[in-house]
Amino acid sequence: MPLTPAELADRVLAWYADEGRDLPWRRTRDPYAILVSEVMLQQTQVERVIECWTAWLARWPTAGDLADAPVADVISAWQGLGYNRRAVNLHRACRVLADEGVPDDVAGWRRLPGVGPYTAAAVCAICFDHDVIPEDVNVRRILDRALGGASLEPPPGRAHDLTQGLFDLGATVCLARIPRCERCPLADGCPSRGLRFEPARRQAPFEGSRRQARGRLLDRLREGPVPLAEADPEIAAALVRDGLAAERDGVLALPG
Ligand code: SF4
Repeated sequence: MPLTPAELADRVLAWYADEGRDLPWRRTRDPYAILVSEVMLQQTQVERVIECWTAWLARWPTAGDLADAPVADVISAWQGLGYNRRAVNLHRACRVLADEGVPDDVAGWRRLPGVGPYTAAAVCAICFDHDVIPEDVNVRRILDRALGGASLEPPPGRAHDLTQGLFDLGATVCLARIPRCERCPLADGCPSRGLRFEPARRQAPFEGSRRQARGRLLDRLREGPVPLAEADPEIAAALVRDGLAAERDGVLALPG
């Protein structure tokens, strides 16, 4: 028999209690700390985020501390995480948090710079147990395979554990191409059990890409200012437009 959403939730919660990963951001419900973890995790491997998140929280323990930091320091500290616009938006979001306080619903979080529906739902589920499930690609995959795309509501007060359980199940068991159904707590009620899946659309190669060139120029700026004449004009303009660099007197530098 296919699982109902309520049965899926119960099974994931039981599985998470036994098998959940011990990650440092799971030892706090502080909204700022969770926001930092969610923003970092959007495009970066968990192992890398563990190291960066720990150092970040040691350096800037509160949203106010980050808001007070020069944006150039924030961009420098983001080195190695990639997709650097996230650093600028996180800094801007923390300025709003420091000025206006912590929002208490998804709509309030969505008003922060760089915070989309997924991140807003994740913070509200993880920090406040609001009745919402953040659907990233891993969570969506599980719901598509096991529930035929139906949505899921957490049992009252269980949004945190259910969200983390879905994250872990998607990351370690219900993998994109070859799911490990033999280890899955949903297997006996999952219509997709035992299936194999086509590889997702291949990403364009990073080597030689514009994204690589952009990252290299930003890495040079982290070392110090660069004469504008030495920079690709389009990439320099894009960095300025994204708040990652500033140009003055023919020199490009991290923003002041
Ligand atoms: S049984 Fe297999 S396909 Fe279904 S949710 Fe579990 S791992 Fe995914």
